[in-house]
Amino acid sequence: MITLALSKGRIFDDTLPLLRAAGVEVTDDADKTRKLILATNRPDVRVVLVRASDVPTYVRHGGADLGVAGLDVLLEDEAEHDAAGTLYKPLDLKIARCRLSVATRADVDWAGTVRQGARIAVATKYTHLARQHFAAKGMHVDLIKLYGSMELAPLTGLAEAIVDLVSTGSTLKANKLVEVEHIMDISARLVVNPASLKLKREPLRQMIDAFESAVGVQA
Ligand code: ATP
Ligand code: MG
Repeated sequence: MITLALSKGRIFDDTLPLLRAAGVEVTDDADKTRKLILATNRPDVRVVLVRASDVPTYVRHGGADLGVAGLDVLLEDEAEHDAAGTLYKPLDLKIARCRLSVATRADVDWAGTVRQGARIAVATKYTHLARQHFAAKGMHVDLIKLYGSMELAPLTGLAEAIVDLVSTGSTLKANKLVEVEHIMDISARLVVNPASLKLKREPLRQMIDAFESAVGVQA
């Protein structure tokens, strides 16, 4: 059995066409069923639905052989684990594309604030990535961990800036925030459990190759 971990929402929706191109059809309707394990047309392949940030955990510990997760989630997860916990990342699926950015209220003079060298409070779900980014710039920041709705932090005085994912920028705009620094481009990656790759080498190799061809067609 090959188990693929996906998160509901854009990762699931954008992975389905790639799976289909790889010859795997999810036969349960994810929108209607409350099942967390979905069957496919292949008796040897199943999909498990987990929280986006739980995908690396499932794949690392063998709860799933493969998974799809955003580079944001994977890098943040890697920063929390040592090299022994590093997952095999064979493929950029080029889906769920966005960027990790620093944003502030539109009326804030960010360049001036940075120049003054004052300590700045930054709210984010990505504390490791944010710490790395500001450390590389030699900036001292106080990081405030949030689990959602980062946009609210600068509007309420909780923080001067946020580090968050941006795609169209419409959420920032609706909240009178502006992107002031681009940290990195993000897309979803295929991740593989290294032990599974040894034990189920042939079927997993086939899956990875099929995904790779599907990405090539999509690109
Ligand atoms: P949870 O809801 O469990 O807290 P989440 O909110 O991070 O997780 P999603 O919003 O589905 O879950 O995001 C999953 C992944 O999709 C992210 O890790 C990121 O890589 C990517 N992503 C997030 N926001 C966007 C966006 N606006 N545009 C494109 N891709 C995005
Ligand atoms: Mg979300």
